Amino acid sequence: MTFKTTCCYCGVGCGILVDQDRQGRLTVKGDPEHPVNKGMLCSKGMNLHHTLIDQSDRLLYPEMRYARNLPKHRVTWNTALERTAAVFTTLIKKYGPDSVAFYASGQCLTEEYYVVNKLMKGFIGSNNLDTNSRLCMSSAVAAYKMSLGEDTVPVAYDDIELAECIFVAGANPAWCHPIIWRRVEAARLANPDLRIIVSDPRITQTATMADLHLQLNPGTDITLHHAIGRCLIENGDIDRSFIENHSEGFEEYRENVFARTVEEAAAICGLGTDEIREAAAMIGKARSFLTMWTMGLNQSSVGVQKNLSLINLNLVTGQIGKPGSGPFSLTGQPNAMGGREVGGLSNLLPAHRDLSNARHREYVEKFWGGGKIASTPGLTATEMFDALHDGRLKAIWIMCTNPLVSLPDARFAEEALRRAKFVVVQDISNKPQSLGFADVILPAAGWTEKTGTMTNAERRISLLEKVMEPPGEALPDSEIICRFAAKMGFEGFDYTSPAEIYREHAALTKGTNIDISAVDHELLREKRSVQWPYLRHLDGYGTARIFLDKKFSTPSAKAVIHSFPDHNKSETLTTEYPLVLTTGRIRDQWHTMSKTGKVSRLKQHVRDAFLEIHPDDAAERGILDNNIVEVTSRRGNVRVKAKLTHSIKKGVVFMPMHWGQVLNSDLNRANNLTNNLVDPISKEPDFKYSAVQICRFAKQ
Ligand code: SF4
Repeated sequence: MTFKTTCCYCGVGCGILVDQDRQGRLTVKGDPEHPVNKGMLCSKGMNLHHTLIDQSDRLLYPEMRYARNLPKHRVTWNTALERTAAVFTTLIKKYGPDSVAFYASGQCLTEEYYVVNKLMKGFIGSNNLDTNSRLCMSSAVAAYKMSLGEDTVPVAYDDIELAECIFVAGANPAWCHPIIWRRVEAARLANPDLRIIVSDPRITQTATMADLHLQLNPGTDITLHHAIGRCLIENGDIDRSFIENHSEGFEEYRENVFARTVEEAAAICGLGTDEIREAAAMIGKARSFLTMWTMGLNQSSVGVQKNLSLINLNLVTGQIGKPGSGPFSLTGQPNAMGGREVGGLSNLLPAHRDLSNARHREYVEKFWGGGKIASTPGLTATEMFDALHDGRLKAIWIMCTNPLVSLPDARFAEEALRRAKFVVVQDISNKPQSLGFADVILPAAGWTEKTGTMTNAERRISLLEKVMEPPGEALPDSEIICRFAAKMGFEGFDYTSPAEIYREHAALTKGTNIDISAVDHELLREKRSVQWPYLRHLDGYGTARIFLDKKFSTPSAKAVIHSFPDHNKSETLTTEYPLVLTTGRIRDQWHTMSKTGKVSRLKQHVRDAFLEIHPDDAAERGILDNNIVEVTSRRGNVRVKAKLTHSIKKGVVFMPMHWGQVLNSDLNRANNLTNNLVDPISKEPDFKYSAVQICRFAKQ
């Protein structure tokens, strides 16, 4: 039997066919009919069935303990949820609704996101619902809103084949969004005139394919983008008609980017002026221009400004709202976009409504039929752990995420959980370290064990069908949340299926710019996938491109070109900590390895954590290739093997973010080192710039 589903790893959203033979054996292959991947899969997707075959790490039944010094023991779902509801009710009564929080994940299905958001904001009465998407996409969300008036990715994957110039900034899609990159590779073969620019301090797989690799100093992206903007203006390669009729803020921008000469900018970025001018010429000559970016821009103390400075290049050239052109933030997680649809961050409301708008809050309150929605944003991901640390937050419910590996300054996060009064962990795996701090453990159903939807980076909604029963007593996340809501005494959570939850979510989007009120599970079964907004009367597959009419969602209907200085606000380098640590992914692992870590084939690429260091920096410290090195920062330390490589800029080191799961040693966890600075608007952490020192570890 064959089931249609979607890959549960990255935001590309590849269609997958899961085959189950008569003996129950599972295999996966790319769905040739899915418009995203047309049958292709990357190494992670191709090996997904191995994560289903090995169930040895699964949580099978609820567990609980009455005090931190007592062991956990198996309990029934009723007991676990009744106890949790009793603790939450007591804390809310004593300290108010903001004393509790849910920390969820961009890997949750839209239906799961929807019910937890509804429960927290509409019934508990606090906006303390945030997700790990805060760690990857929140800077892009803020920048889209500020420049285009709405959190809307205006382009589609089909624009890749139509672009004449693609600028990939702070991203390595060849490894992290492989199927998108294969489309870029194919587009280049088909169109020899396509020009690819990559900016990255590392010579990544993506950078090796570029026509122009701008190997800039970390933290200098805004300077680079401003300098390119200046060159475009000097060369007359701007779109005056678009600027005059469809944008605002150009004059300030011109002044802003002319504040620095190209020579000054080049010196700051560590680039040649010719490289900056060449990039501007490539962009200026192209009739269609796509910008793509991910964490290199987002995960920064000035992440929103980095995003805006790149989007400005689309705006001044008028390369938006037409085929092959536009600013394309590549979503990291498989359903970060679905989370944004339902308002699943602590500062959002469903269907891109505005939390600060009283009319919007009233509309959602009435629709849900619960209580008042608080007007102030709730705690963000890192703020939750700050608040646990200092006692403002008493209880946290961690759902489908592994914060003690993925949050910055992980040892601080660990201490925060130690200080929490009450911790609930809802997960599929028995691996996350947060389980060690849990008072209640709830086993969740995983990929293929439940039905629901996800929305990928190009706003494409796909259905993920249930293929098999979850092991033991594990339940779908949405069912866990709904059962808990009932225990809290709330009405409106008695859904009979995920399809019913989806219908309610879709109805709440009616009349908004992301209208999917005509979409339901049946339609998705029939059409395989559609892009929002989707209006039934169009009888197609939804909306591939937004802003074709050049009317933006700002009050003036014009896109806003923002101006700001180019200062980086990351941690300062000193003689004690003179090197910049940047963290990121490798090709064959996903996030904290709770799934990919089970597949031995995926370890063949890279087996252990490592530190990339330039040979000159290594020589200064007497470090040889494969030596164990101790890396220290103001927060902590790690001990890993050094990998000497000319592919990283001198003064910069790189460590993958995946490792750190081992309970008896955290010395391969990159986030022992990362700093807790966040962007002031998006509150996204600065994972790409931490000051560190390296030395050869003595005992070897
Ligand atoms: Fe899965 Fe992303 Fe690979 Fe596609 S590109 S198979 S969505 S991990």
